[in-house]
Amino acid sequence: SESEEVMSGCGCGRNSTRSVFNSKTAELLSHHQVEIKQSFPKEGWVEEDPKEILQSVYECMERTCEKLTQLNIDISNIKAIGVTNQRETTLVWDKETGEPLYNAIVWLDLRTQSTVERLINKTPGRNKNHLKHKTGLPISTYFSAVKLRWLMDNVDEVREAVVCHRAMFGTVDSWLIWCLTGGKKGGVHCTDVTNASRTMLFNIHTMDWDPELCKYFGIPMEILPRVRSSSEIYGLMKSGALSGIPISGCLGDQSAALVGQMCFQDGQAKNTYGTGCFLLRNTGPKPVMSDHGLLTTVAYKLGRDKPACYALEGSVAIAGAVVRWLQDNLGIIGSSEELEKLAASVGTSYGCYFVPAFSGLYAPYWEPSARGIICGLTQFTNKSHLAFAALEAVCFQTREILDAMNQDSGIPLTQLQVDGGMTSNRLLMQLQADILCIPVVKPSMPETTALGAAMAAGAAEGVSVWSLSPEDLSEVTSEKFEPQINPEESEFRYARWKKAVQKSMNWET
Ligand code: ADP
Repeated sequence: SESEEVMSGCGCGRNSTRSVFNSKTAELLSHHQVEIKQSFPKEGWVEEDPKEILQSVYECMERTCEKLTQLNIDISNIKAIGVTNQRETTLVWDKETGEPLYNAIVWLDLRTQSTVERLINKTPGRNKNHLKHKTGLPISTYFSAVKLRWLMDNVDEVREAVVCHRAMFGTVDSWLIWCLTGGKKGGVHCTDVTNASRTMLFNIHTMDWDPELCKYFGIPMEILPRVRSSSEIYGLMKSGALSGIPISGCLGDQSAALVGQMCFQDGQAKNTYGTGCFLLRNTGPKPVMSDHGLLTTVAYKLGRDKPACYALEGSVAIAGAVVRWLQDNLGIIGSSEELEKLAASVGTSYGCYFVPAFSGLYAPYWEPSARGIICGLTQFTNKSHLAFAALEAVCFQTREILDAMNQDSGIPLTQLQVDGGMTSNRLLMQLQADILCIPVVKPSMPETTALGAAMAAGAAEGVSVWSLSPEDLSEVTSEKFEPQINPEESEFRYARWKKAVQKSMNWET
């Protein structure tokens, strides 16, 4: 309604930028999405254009405002803006010219494999978990510090800007907030604790940049953004229709989804199915270190004086990306919707297992040398079986992470909350419940990530149009998928999958 206070959530997803507005009731009012192009200059390299990312945010904001006006909602009702973004993706720009000094190196990018090997070789006992006690993370190509190291080693412009004290480093959130608050004319250089916790330069216990970690990677601390909580006023929008409105929420996409799914209780978990899969389980105010290959990460800190909450996280590199691969590289489907029809037409993989380890395996294996395999093929196997095996692969990978999480926390999860682009695939959701042997619950409002960012923005001190106390949070309507196959059948298929994973890790030997 017209008089309602309206919050804005502005999100930059893994492959797209979208913008959402929610009223106090968490209702989705207006929404626009722009795809961001990715480029693959060499095998294993993945880049995005920082200016295109920024442009897509401006475009989303404008279009969303237009849509609101069409709905007769005055945009002066917008009280705050929240930013959510793909994490780890690394940018360096010149603070005097405002120009990016290289493309954004995307989280999936593998160019730092030799940097990572060199760093691990330097550690006592060649231990990839050497920095885990401080960061919660293994040394891997995934996190920002190694990408930043690569930029400083390989891009003259970056090296020069660092020497001349003109360089600024940031993940996508920092780049956006800096630009939106004025850029070279007084832009605010900051990040939030959730994004910082994915750089490998951040100490998740002291909640600040760690001089020893920076020294380890050879990163000068002056190029780092200031670390803030996930919910406070960072600065005001400098231009456009929303000029003057505070930017007061910032969360990495997976943290934003956890908040948007209202997983505020210790033990609650959500899985987001997008390009990759990201399963996060809230572990409350204490970081839990994993013995089973999971990451320990900052879940959120909703206010300067609020305590931080932590999460255990398992990431799968390739989930929706396997759908794109079947479409773009094999051409066996014309669209992602077709995959569901194809797989449903057979309802089984007919003993075929597909491990899409295109860029190695993330949690719980962290094996960069793993490569994709398809096994169990017979004369009878056809593309429908392959489509089914691809969907099953997403479910099995999630099961591996959930098993690890249950072991680490000692308390088995009783239901899984889900979101993300792939959850529109109902067959996938049913398969997931079958393979986990627990119910899968999907909220009817799909934009949980942007919702989380909007909630953080609206709850910030000085904005305070959104209460995050549990009794005030509206119930989200959802759909539940119950397991339908018997657990023995499920275990049998899962055991086969595990054998296939072993083969993907040592198929060369
Ligand atoms: P991201 O935020 O990572 O860009 P999204 O949450 O937008 O991802 O999800 C997009 C991914 O979901 C794409 O990789 C796409 O292939 C996949 N996807 C979308 N719809 C379906 C579907 N019906 N079946 C299977 N995969 C789908």
